[in-house]
Amino acid sequence: MVLEKLILDGIAVANTVKEHVKERVEYLKSKDIRPCLATILVGNDPSSATYVKMKGNECERLGILSKRIHLPEETTTEELVACIIELNHSTDIDGILLQHPVPSHIDERAAFEAISIEKDVDGVTSQGFGQLAFGFSDYPCCTPAAIMQIIEHYKIPVEGKHAVVIGRSPILGKPVSLMLLNKNATVTTCHSKTVDLPSIVKQADIVVAAVGKPNFVKGDWIKDGAVILDAGYNKGNIGDVDYEECFNKARAITPVPGGVGPVTISMLLKHTVDSAEKREK
Ligand code: NAP
Repeated sequence: MVLEKLILDGIAVANTVKEHVKERVEYLKSKDIRPCLATILVGNDPSSATYVKMKGNECERLGILSKRIHLPEETTTEELVACIIELNHSTDIDGILLQHPVPSHIDERAAFEAISIEKDVDGVTSQGFGQLAFGFSDYPCCTPAAIMQIIEHYKIPVEGKHAVVIGRSPILGKPVSLMLLNKNATVTTCHSKTVDLPSIVKQADIVVAAVGKPNFVKGDWIKDGAVILDAGYNKGNIGDVDYEECFNKARAITPVPGGVGPVTISMLLKHTVDSAEKREK
C-alpha cells in the first residue's frame, strides 16, 4: 500500500487556532473584557526584538491588547523581577511573556520564576513545568504545545508509538517528551551525550528535532513512514532536519519555515485568551 505523503502545514494549523481565538476575543469584548498580553524585551538583540514585535502584532490582529515593555540592556535582575511583579498585580494583564534570552548578566531563571503561574502563558516557570509533568497544566510551553497541536490537527496516532525527541532543553525537548509520554507514546529523549543517535532515531515512529543545528537530522536516520516534527529555527530559516533528504523517507513532515513556528505564536495567543476567560468567571 502506498501511503500519501503529508506536509504538515503549520500556517493552516495556526489559522485554525487563531480563528477560534478571535471568536473568543469577540465574545469577551461583548463582556467588556479585552485580553492583554504583556511582552518584555530586555536589551537590543535584533532577533529578540523581531520575535517580540511579531507576537505583539499578532495579538493586535486578533483584538488582544499588547503591552510592550522594552527595558534597557543594563537592567538588573532585581529591576526585571520588580517589573514582572508589578505586571503580576495588574488586573488588566492576562499573560506575561519575557523574551528569551535576556542579557547574560541577568538571572533569567529568577526572572521566569517571578511570573505568577496564573499569567505564565508561555509556560516558563518551574511550577508550570511540574504541572505539565503531571498532565494538568493550563499553559504548557508554547513550542511543545504547538507540536502537540499539529499532531492533534492531523490526527497523527501517538499511543504506543515510539517517539524520539532530539534535545532536552527545559522549554522544548523535555516538555515535549513529557507531553508525548502523557499521550501514551514510548519516548526516548536524546541529547549531546547520546551514543549512536542515528540508530536511535531510526527506531522512531515520531521524530521531534529540537537541537538548534541546521540540517542536523539526515535522511538515512529516518525509518520509512516516520512522522517528523522539526522545531528547529536556525539562521536563514533553516530547520534542524535536512528536509530534502528526510522528505523522501517520512510519511509526514513539517517544513521550515511554515511548520512549528507559526503554531507556536498561535498557542501563546490561545493561552492569553484562556487566561482572560478566567477573569470573566
Ligand atoms: P537548546 O537549549 O540549545 O537545546 C538544544 C538541545 O539539543 C540540548 O538538549 C542539547 O543537548 C541537544 N544537542 C545539541 N547537540 C546535539 C547533538 N550533537 N546530538 C544530540 N543532541 C544535541 O535549544 P532549544 O532552545 O531547545 O531550541 C532548539 C531548536 O528549536 C533551535 O533551533 C531553536 O531555534 C528552535 N526553537 C524554535 C521555536 C519555535 O517557535 N519554532 C521555539 C524555541 C526554539 P545537551 O542538553 O546535552 O546540551
